[in-house]
Amino acid sequence: MRVPAEARVDLGAIGDNIGLLRERARGAEVMAMVKAEAYGHGLVEAAGAALAGGASWLGVAKLAEALRLRDAGVTVRTLVCIGVPGEPYAEAVAKDVDLTVGAVWLLDEVVRAAERAGRQARIHLKADTGMTRGGASGADWEALVDAALKAEAAGQVRVVGVMSHFACADEPGHPSIAAQLGAFTEMAAHAEKAGARFEVRHIANSAAALTLPEARFDLVRPGIATYGLTPVPRLGTFGLRPAMTLVADAALVKRVPAGRGVSYGHTYTTRAAANLAVVPVGYGDGIPRNGSNLLEVLAGGRRRTIAGRVCMDQFVIDLGDDRLAAGDEVILFGPGDRGEPTAQEWADALGTISYEIVTRIGSRVPRAYPGRAL
Ligand SMILES: *Cc1c(COP(=O)(O)O)cnc(C)c1O
Repeated sequence: MRVPAEARVDLGAIGDNIGLLRERARGAEVMAMVKAEAYGHGLVEAAGAALAGGASWLGVAKLAEALRLRDAGVTVRTLVCIGVPGEPYAEAVAKDVDLTVGAVWLLDEVVRAAERAGRQARIHLKADTGMTRGGASGADWEALVDAALKAEAAGQVRVVGVMSHFACADEPGHPSIAAQLGAFTEMAAHAEKAGARFEVRHIANSAAALTLPEARFDLVRPGIATYGLTPVPRLGTFGLRPAMTLVADAALVKRVPAGRGVSYGHTYTTRAAANLAVVPVGYGDGIPRNGSNLLEVLAGGRRRTIAGRVCMDQFVIDLGDDRLAAGDEVILFGPGDRGEPTAQEWADALGTISYEIVTRIGSRVPRAYPGRAL
């Protein structure tokens, strides 16, 4: 079936990006981060591509995401990075999902869940080394380590990992990076001295995996780089290949005279008689409304700026005297090899990060996987 818009995901690019990250990781394992629908690329499909490319772990933010992977038959080691009260932890334990534990209250919940599930929970202790978000530090860290090792001795949990997260890894040289690395090494050492036997120590996101060899430890956790977008725009692309191309078929194309106000608020006026095309995606699909009169798309082989406001379901482009037929493909963003903007370009224009551009593409836009073996 022909659809008016779709996000085409190049699963081969995801596999290749993981291959590149693996090479850079020099023996450390790769946990592909597939939270938030794999940054908009489709949870299960992207996970499969990452595993085919050599990832040996998957990481998600929320427990429901891990359970969806299990329901889809994905059995590889999977880590839930965020813990909130009242989640179905017993189901997670029963389904062999690794859990991140950064507070004693969460450890207590996981211990109870392990008892209910009748098996040991696998946990990764989360150290707050300076991100100042999740995780424990100072006396809380000591208390958490102590409680976790007691639960391990009692057979309720197995403390398999220690992890942390960088605040400023996308700004190589930022003084917090060295401080966090130092804190991580110390906090892991403290836990080991207390008796922890970690299988994996991990702290590196995409930026650290690509720019900071000393942050690799046993495992790296790339998210954005998996999808081919650079974590450090000013250092270039690192050879990564963007996996997502967002396309829409031009709907109505019509000729209007000079001086016509276009779309809500008439924030754009035709300077001369022009052909206008309606593109059937809008902010209800994740096209940023503040990209009105700002973002470019590729239509008829040329870049065009969105003319007037982005609406909920559509926007307009001004083709001048060029022609486009209803049904002709408009490329909103992609890898850039056909002259279309990249998600990074959209992010730069909007003052945000590429993560937000791809992640926000909504569920109304079907994901397509061209060339996927059936
Ligand atoms: C999202 C996430 C990552 C990946 O971050 P990127 O910057 O996309 O590479 C790594 N670790 C944790 C804990 C995360 O939540």
